[in-house]
Amino acid sequence: MRLSQLFTKTLREAPTDEVAVNARFLTRGGFVFKNSAGVYSFLPLGWRVMEKISKIVREEINAIDGQELFMPALVEKKYMEPTARWDLDVGFFAKGKDDKEASFVLGWSHEEVLTVIAAKYINSYRDLPFAAYQIQTKFRNEARAKSGLLRGREFMMKDLYSFHTNEKDLEGYYEKVKESYFRIFERCGLKVIYTLASGGVFTDKFTNEFQVLSEVGEDTILMCLKCEYAENAEISKLKKAGTCPTRLPDGQECSGDIAEKNSIEVGNIFNQGTKYSDNLGLSFIDESGVKNSVWMAAYGIGISRLMAAVVEVSNDKQGIIWPENIAPFRIHLIVLDDRKEESEKVYNELTQKGVEVLYDDRNDETVGEKFADADLIGCPIRVVVSNKTLDKDSVEIKRRSEKETELIKLEDLKKRL
Ligand code: ATP
Ligand code: MG
Repeated sequence: MRLSQLFTKTLREAPTDEVAVNARFLTRGGFVFKNSAGVYSFLPLGWRVMEKISKIVREEINAIDGQELFMPALVEKKYMEPTARWDLDVGFFAKGKDDKEASFVLGWSHEEVLTVIAAKYINSYRDLPFAAYQIQTKFRNEARAKSGLLRGREFMMKDLYSFHTNEKDLEGYYEKVKESYFRIFERCGLKVIYTLASGGVFTDKFTNEFQVLSEVGEDTILMCLKCEYAENAEISKLKKAGTCPTRLPDGQECSGDIAEKNSIEVGNIFNQGTKYSDNLGLSFIDESGVKNSVWMAAYGIGISRLMAAVVEVSNDKQGIIWPENIAPFRIHLIVLDDRKEESEKVYNELTQKGVEVLYDDRNDETVGEKFADADLIGCPIRVVVSNKTLDKDSVEIKRRSEKETELIKLEDLKKRL
């Protein structure tokens, strides 16, 4: 992609109404555009990042037999009334112009919709278990929308739901999803803390959250600095500055120090029991011919929140430092001193090899402006073609996360990148 053709431009200043680091850098870099409070467009650079995250999520969820589908954003009242979730404050309600009252809510979670679909196909124990997921826009009337993309009123979520004949089977799959989530977050360059939490307004049971440590996080967790056992402060009996009561595999108490940390919830998983299947009539006939309710669990990852969390934990004064796997482009190629002929060759060779290159081929920008944009946008590797490098038949290479630059011979470039 040529920067000269990219329709968005970087901004020198962040918008004054954005306080969160994620929104400031993502806006300045041209990744997102704020349309309304808590409502963002994903621009070409930002959408590339979102697509990369989604691809990782798809690969990992497909690998545990999740079946991808896509459900409507318009959720009719008849789905939400049986579970008493129609009237919740979280909803944005929708109605036709001449309707007196709203008959739809913009989907903020899809348990009900999928349960009704499943009820059409699931009859016998032989039809279970299965798991289905979507990557879709969710709408929530969030009160505090000051954290940029961390808390949108419209945002992108991956929601997976699993269906089982009994709780034990559910628990087995729950563990699989947990492992899958660790792989997803690791591939996205995030370290997460597995945390015990309450079900909040959506369920009475305990849930588990995947938390990224960050000063700006809206959650507070109590965690052991030794074994990393953690509980959300909302439910925790752990004491700040106490010691960790967790039993290690050898039976000994862990005794590590407990600390209080702010964190960002990037994902969560919960056992929902038979609440949705009871209320919406999703049952199966077991091996002895008896009718039972289906056990369900739900598993969410905020795709746009994940992108924002990465920006919060991986940046410096100059801009974003994207982890390799989710960077919009791997290489940020810069041409200086009018050496277009040579840099075009580098660009063509690399892109033909399948390397993703963002090519700053602009004519009117200064060296300083080009370098500043490369740092702001944050691709993992900067490559410079200039008089200085070409004198040595080389290009200059620098990792976004490091200070040192290195000269590499043109003929070695393809091998190195
Ligand atoms: P929170 O406690 O932060 O409001 P939640 O418990 O409401 O989150 P879920 O309903 O389980 O979250 O949604 C699944 C995932 O979707 C969350 O783990 C989070 O990553 C993401 N998410 C939830 N609400 C938002 C939001 N308003 N903006 C962006 N992402 C969100
Ligand atoms: Mg919420």
